[in-house]
Amino acid sequence: MQVTTVQATASLPVDTRRSPYAHWRGLSREQARLEPTGFWATRQQRNRQVTLGHGFRMLDEAGNLHNLRLAAGTAQGDYRGPVFMDSDVTKWLEAVGYAAAAPGGLDASLRQAADTAIGLLAAAQQPDGYLDSYYQVVAPERRWAELNTGHELYCAGHLIQAAIAWQRYAHDDRLLQIALRVVEPINSRFGPGQPAGVPGHPEIEMALVELYRLTGRREHLELAQRFVDQRGYGLLGPNPRFGGAAYYQDRVPVREASEIEGHAVRALYLTTGVTDVYLETGEGALLEAMLRQWADFTGRKLYLTGGAGSRHSGEAFGHPYELPTERAYCETCAAIASIMWSWRLLLATGEARFADLIERTLYNGFLSGLALDGQRFFYVNPLLSHGRPEVVGRGVVERQPWFLVACCPPNVMRLLGSLDHYLATIDADGRGIQVHQYAPSVIAVDLAAGAVELRVATDYPWQGRVEITVDRAPSGPWSLQLRRPRWSVSTRLQLNGADVHSALDGHGYFVVERTWQPGDRVVLELDLHPRMTAPHPRLEAARGCVAIERGPLVYCLEQPDYPDDADVLDVALDLDLPPERLSATWQPDLLDGVMTVHARGRLTDTAAWDGATFRSLQKRRPGSPPAPRTVPLVAIPYYAWANRTPGPMRVWIPTTRPIGV
Ligand SMILES: [Zn+2]
Repeated sequence: MQVTTVQATASLPVDTRRSPYAHWRGLSREQARLEPTGFWATRQQRNRQVTLGHGFRMLDEAGNLHNLRLAAGTAQGDYRGPVFMDSDVTKWLEAVGYAAAAPGGLDASLRQAADTAIGLLAAAQQPDGYLDSYYQVVAPERRWAELNTGHELYCAGHLIQAAIAWQRYAHDDRLLQIALRVVEPINSRFGPGQPAGVPGHPEIEMALVELYRLTGRREHLELAQRFVDQRGYGLLGPNPRFGGAAYYQDRVPVREASEIEGHAVRALYLTTGVTDVYLETGEGALLEAMLRQWADFTGRKLYLTGGAGSRHSGEAFGHPYELPTERAYCETCAAIASIMWSWRLLLATGEARFADLIERTLYNGFLSGLALDGQRFFYVNPLLSHGRPEVVGRGVVERQPWFLVACCPPNVMRLLGSLDHYLATIDADGRGIQVHQYAPSVIAVDLAAGAVELRVATDYPWQGRVEITVDRAPSGPWSLQLRRPRWSVSTRLQLNGADVHSALDGHGYFVVERTWQPGDRVVLELDLHPRMTAPHPRLEAARGCVAIERGPLVYCLEQPDYPDDADVLDVALDLDLPPERLSATWQPDLLDGVMTVHARGRLTDTAAWDGATFRSLQKRRPGSPPAPRTVPLVAIPYYAWANRTPGPMRVWIPTTRPIGV
């Protein structure tokens, strides 16, 4: 085996500190970290204290560990679950790796659980490096023979990512030794001079680029590039059930693609990996293809919540504006993949629109995937619910402790564990700091001018005030860039108590460049007035409706906030009430503390339909119809729905008269 020298490590999931084509560079946990209080820190702590332990119990119950024991020859019985069971273990391990860098590290039970999982992976690995419990136990003769459905390369990718997390955050190379050996048979089969082949489920591309960033070994980057180069030529064969080669993103060569299509998680993992390849190689055709697909995604196929992938069938993107509400798929993993992709595009371009989408997705379509108690999950995240079990399954009405296909829960855990990484960046040439996400945090970096330390204080997303104090500054000038969220209609920026005007650059950031003094303070006041949002005229499922948003949060109506005789599905927003009269109220005891939004609602009298589904407009009833009843309209953040008694919920709300847009 080739001796590998690991680059000096810092705690970050995506290490673009030396990436030649990164416009901005991501920061390590040593450089940017959440303070222990605030919206996300609270969730990160719950992830560490509750969710990770729950995850290990579920992996044990579901058979993931049993499968590894079978592969290691230390247990008897049948393989359990789908082909990619190993990836749930390694995604969970990746999340535990991040938690190891938190203050206090891992508690004894979590450390023991991680040791067990790492030990099982080591024991299951074959002498030639191959490690995949399904193909070792069930189908050894079909190794690398089922690339379209087999998930071997997907599982290897997740193992590599877990190994990198443990190396960088826990300074523990046990998994890295396993991962480097796992790459050997992959290189032998797919490397230079070998027959073409691509994974049915992308994932290994981004993992291999990250492995290259860790090891500096070019063969890892080249292998990722080969998988990108060979994709789109139909190697995976047709998929008649789910729309042909598009399901696998194998219909159009990567550089020619202009539409985001097929299985949403596959599509977005692929684009994430492709953008990673661009950050290292600078190939313009790759970035152009990514920007075309991102425009298709956000312009025609994106849910208001940041959710991605509208179809249950094939877990796939639909046609433009095919964005059903009750039947929305919006897999939690797809939201996570969208965040990972947008992060890399942000690093590549320095444009706030990518950080805006990260924010929208984090607070809504991602966070809805996790219950407030940290122990139940949504796989599917609809925008409307009748409050009854859904025919397709996967628990649309109530979050579940785990799933037969359990990709989402450990994915939630690993994103929450590495959230610090998405707060801020520095310029490639070290001239300034960019703050992308607002949360109580500390940012301490060495810029070209010298060492800088900032403290961010805020009660975001509930309050729009963000205070940034310079605690340490060099004698020379440097710039501070603050994202202006697109939703903030009127935004105020102050420096040491005086308004700053005309500081907005062309990419959505306020820029203040000066020679800073310790104690300097910048205050950003974002506009958190509740607002109404209209859907595209072709978005059929939301026709005649508006949504309520406040700051980064999408709101919904949920039945527990309404009397029994007022079904949420019958509530309309009274537009005769001026929009500025939407009001917000802090409710400390509701849903772990939320800001509710209030307006005036009108209740449609469905009793007048006498049980009929249709009524002829020709046969009008005598007399005037009863005046609709007025009800107080109460909305809660969408992420918090389904944490009380199951009942109807809706994001898009009918209005009492047509809206002019
Ligand atoms: Zn998933």
